[in-house]
Amino acid sequence: MQYFSLQDKQHRVSFEQAVVQGLAPDKGLYFPDHIPALEKDLVDFLENYDDFDIAYRAIQPFVGDEIPAAVLQQIIQDTLSFPFPLHPVEKDVYALELFHGPTLAFKDVGARFMAGCLGYFRRNDVRPVTVLVATSGDTGGAVAHGFHHVPGVKVVILYPAGKVSTLQEKQLTTLNGNITALEIAGTFDDCQRMVKTAFLDAELQQQCLLTSANSINVARWLPQMFYYLLAAKQLKMAGANPDLVFSVPSGNFGNICAGMMAAAMGLPVKHFIASTNVNDTVPRFMQSGRYEPHPAQPTLSNAMDVADPSNFVRILQLVSNSLPGLQQKMSSSSFTDQQTLAVMEQVWQAHDYMLDPHGAVGYLGLKQYMQQHSSVTGVFLETAHPVKFADTAPESLREAIHVPERVQALYALPKNAVPLPNDYASLKAWMMQHN
Ligand SMILES: *Cc1c(COP(=O)(O)O)cnc(C)c1O
Repeated sequence: MQYFSLQDKQHRVSFEQAVVQGLAPDKGLYFPDHIPALEKDLVDFLENYDDFDIAYRAIQPFVGDEIPAAVLQQIIQDTLSFPFPLHPVEKDVYALELFHGPTLAFKDVGARFMAGCLGYFRRNDVRPVTVLVATSGDTGGAVAHGFHHVPGVKVVILYPAGKVSTLQEKQLTTLNGNITALEIAGTFDDCQRMVKTAFLDAELQQQCLLTSANSINVARWLPQMFYYLLAAKQLKMAGANPDLVFSVPSGNFGNICAGMMAAAMGLPVKHFIASTNVNDTVPRFMQSGRYEPHPAQPTLSNAMDVADPSNFVRILQLVSNSLPGLQQKMSSSSFTDQQTLAVMEQVWQAHDYMLDPHGAVGYLGLKQYMQQHSSVTGVFLETAHPVKFADTAPESLREAIHVPERVQALYALPKNAVPLPNDYASLKAWMMQHN
């Protein structure tokens, strides 16, 4: 498989180059040069295949012969080392729980897969590669955990001071070793801008070999299709109505774009719903056809506080840049913090199920859609464990939040972060000095 830059279709690279570079030199996102079809037998009889085999068959065409089969299988085993259960919340409504990994959010999947690929590609290199990543909260922990102790890889994470939750900060700042957290006096968008500037800085690139682990990296983006397939398999085994609708709480739009890729490959999905918080650039675009980002606003679902979602250009590419084509496959709605808190309380009281603020936005989008389309099977992605957002949960839920054993010890560990001002010069100086 070759990948082309969405800025310049003539610029083509291998899977390895796409993974190692992250972003094309012209700043375009990489996109596969064709969309492979899932085998018909796999689509028709998902229930006959084991989870690892499903994942392997879905991802292998994107990797080609650049990673040997046995290595790729091992990477998939490491990636899917935790369950992806579907929790029935009410009639025809399921939560696809993506938070059973080490850092309690779906980003573990992409981060672990990418760490496996990068570790393989760098296996013979003496020069270490630095993974530079900006996080609004969950990416950093997942990337840090995925790359912890991977030989030849250093990780530098930028996070906005005071804008991530207690547990998120602990996940970023307590691993140490090959992981460094930089606490930036700014917003997520500031962090992202600094990272993007670093990737364009030739002088810095001479000093350190940089790569990105944001969801723009194809090795983080594509494996997210796995759990859409695994959800379809579980629903088929349960005998659910096959008209599947996925509602995806969306920020940078990588997760939903992976689901739409699985559908483009042949997974039968009736419709996708991109549910957002008040950072509603895409819902407004779906209405007006005009893409006009406003400055990002902080919300309770902080991992979705993204004004200008990077992966949206990939979604447009999937529908050949046709707005009517997109409207057929995807709708998009935005919800306020007030609606989010209210539905968290309501679902807890009525269905004894605890949502986190991101899952709550997904649930809201799904319910709104199902008011008009009743005979479907609705799945919303529960993208994080509620404990990650315990600080801001409604009072009535907070007491009942269960802290999973695998993160209990984190709370007692000391935070280790480097505070930096909100300007690129400071980041560069730090990077030059600590290479
Ligand atoms: C990152 C994140 C999202 C948004 O996912 P995108 O792929 O950026 O759209 C949603 N929920 C949680 C919990 C996240 O960490």
